[in-house]
Amino acid sequence: MDNLRIKLYGILLVTAFSCRPTESPPDLTTGTWIDLSYPFNSETIYWPTDTLGFQLDTVFHGFTDNQYFYSAYSFRSAEHGGTHLDAPVHFADGQQSVEAIPLQNLIGRAVVVDVSQAASKDRDYLVSAEDFQQWEEKNGAIPNGSIILLRTGYGASWPDRQQYLGTDQMGAQAVPQLHFPGLAPQAATWLTNERQIKAIGLDTPSIDYGQSSHFESHRILFEYNIPAFENLANLDKLPVTGSWVIALPMNIAGGSGAPLRAVAWIP
Ligand SMILES: [Zn+2]
Repeated sequence: MDNLRIKLYGILLVTAFSCRPTESPPDLTTGTWIDLSYPFNSETIYWPTDTLGFQLDTVFHGFTDNQYFYSAYSFRSAEHGGTHLDAPVHFADGQQSVEAIPLQNLIGRAVVVDVSQAASKDRDYLVSAEDFQQWEEKNGAIPNGSIILLRTGYGASWPDRQQYLGTDQMGAQAVPQLHFPGLAPQAATWLTNERQIKAIGLDTPSIDYGQSSHFESHRILFEYNIPAFENLANLDKLPVTGSWVIALPMNIAGGSGAPLRAVAWIP
């Protein structure tokens, strides 16, 4: 081997070594999996104006003429009910619909911001930029690529409509009676301007609070193609940092939202 070859092999070896990942990939067979989705059934909470809710119709259930068991159902659901995804196009013309959201934006490290104490005293509580800044004082800056999960504590009331929504009335006249916490528009602006998050979710029916009539936080986030996860379950079971979220909606082409199966993984 001449000197040139020795040098070339050396460069190759150094390059290969420096390209090796410093972190080994997570072992998904260990750790704990948490279901962040509620089942869809007759109790599933939909917006008061959606009076049909979730419908499951039996196509067939029983033994066929050929003596084998068979069951099949058809379902009907609005996009925005139960645990679901809001695609950016829901409130931002021209932005991503469900199938256009990159998968990597639906999978990421979770940042859990617990505002349940304040929200328990105020049904109209608005999560503020100061709540995020206080979180950062304790835990460090929200890392780029995080998925923010707002824990308001209202998930504990699911599926009690009165407790969860503030009203058990249905129809358009019930909408002004909605009282549940949400994200302040000022905080949505702060997140989009100051941090690089992939998505945001919470344990209430809407990223804007119940009393919102202009849905400003939806509009601010969605202009940046940041989707929202609504009616998330089990946020009380997650650590403040260190867990991962995988939130995969039904892949509705052109959809403004979709039923969502979301899980968290705690290493
Ligand atoms: Zn929605």
